[in-house]
Parts: sequence; C-alpha cells; structure tokens
Amino acid sequence: MASLRLERAYLPDVRRMIESGNVIAIVPIGSTEQHGPHLPFGTDAIIAESVSLEVADRLKDKLNILVVPTIRIGCSAEHMDFPGTLSLRLETMISLIKDVCASLSAHGIKKIVLLNAHGGNTSLLKGIIHQLRREIDALVVVVDTWSISSDVLAEIRESPTGGAVHAGEAETSLMLALDESLVKWAEARSELPRMDSENKYFRVEKPRYVSFSWCTADISRSGVIGDPTKANEEKGRRIRDFVTNAICEMLEELSRINLAGES
Ligand SMILES: [Zn+2]
Repeated sequence: MASLRLERAYLPDVRRMIESGNVIAIVPIGSTEQHGPHLPFGTDAIIAESVSLEVADRLKDKLNILVVPTIRIGCSAEHMDFPGTLSLRLETMISLIKDVCASLSAHGIKKIVLLNAHGGNTSLLKGIIHQLRREIDALVVVVDTWSISSDVLAEIRESPTGGAVHAGEAETSLMLALDESLVKWAEARSELPRMDSENKYFRVEKPRYVSFSWCTADISRSGVIGDPTKANEEKGRRIRDFVTNAICEMLEELSRINLAGES
C-alpha cells in the first residue's frame, strides 16, 4: 500500500501501484477566484489540495491512493465582476473532468474521487458522474469539503445566516489552520448578504430552496459574502480534522465497494 502524488511520482512507482490493484485516484478541484481583501485567489485550490494530500498521507499504509494534479480553475462565473477571477465555461469544465477521469480509467484505475472545495463546481460535478459511469469503466465519487463538514460547521458557527458563504467565517478559519501566512487578517471585514436575513427563498446560504442566478457583485462590494471576523485557527483545525477524518472514513469504505460485475 502507498500514496503517490502523481506530479512528483516516477513511472516505476505508478506502474507498481496500478499493478497491485484497488487504486483510488483523488482529483483535487478548486478555483481561481477573488476571495476579498484577506484571502488569496487560490483559496479553494489550496484547500482541496491540502486536504487531498493530508488524506493520502494518513491512508498510505492502508490503501493505494494516487493524488493527481489539482484542477486550479473552476466554474466561477458568479465572481467575474471582480478582476483576476478565471472561469471555465461549463462545457470546458465537463470536458476537462471527463478527460482526466477517462485517462485514469484507461490505465485501469476503477475508483476516482473528485474532491471539490468550490461550491460553484458542485452541481456540475454531481451532474456528470452518472453519465461518466456509462462512458468509462470506473466508479466516480464527488465529495465536497463544505457539504461533508456541515455538522461541525453548525457546531462552531458564531456568525448569523449568510456569515459563511464565501471568504467568511468557515473558509477563513480553515485557511488560518492550513496556512496562516496567506490570511491578511488586518484586512478581514464582515459583509453579510441582506437577502439572507430578509428572504426565505432568495438566499445565498443553505438551506437553499431555490437556485437563482445571483452574482457576487449583486450582494457584496468587497467580494466577501460572510463574516471572516468570527474566524479563528481553532475553528479551522476542527473543520480540517473533521473533513480529513470523514474523507478517510469514506475512502476506506470506497475501497471495499465492488462495482457491478466484479467478484
Ligand atoms: Zn472559496
């Protein structure tokens, strides 16, 4: 059993891992989008990659884990009013994910985990996995760092509704725990979306009963949607530990799952 980071791995090691079987590939997926004045553009990609590497390290004696290069640009149309944001069209993102999964499958990898840390990618990823199952010989899983951590987020939460949407309490806490040097704490300001306290249906934070085409510029001047001033490193450590534990547990379960037709 081993874990390998593909971009730093060598052919004989990858070959040996694939030949030994039951490999789970993790594809970290983030974005390059504005995160206000206090978090960097690469926040989501940094989170997805850190969690993936941590999980792979923890499981290296139990499972065969191959962490593939992080997809650092995602679907970020909602942030395109802010300079620096890069966004893929849906069809580009679908093609990118499908081609990465098809490449892994072509080498005999039958379990692929799309580990996503950007909410704007989630519905697209969930939307393509059933079609992918028909196209490639692999089971594809979507895990979203923010969905899987909803229980711990509810426990640590101090900000009101709308306080943890984007660059807010949760994301800033997690970044403080992952790499404090990337958080410009002195610049962190709260900007709560008014629609979340006023509306039942037209809100940007969960629970979302309807989806609608909001843009960040509709609700935020700073680019922040939430309250980063309620963030701290201890909360971030709790989120990080909860997410990595849950994903490790999920991967161990995945390793025992057999696809239809497998003995
Ligand atoms: Zn983010």
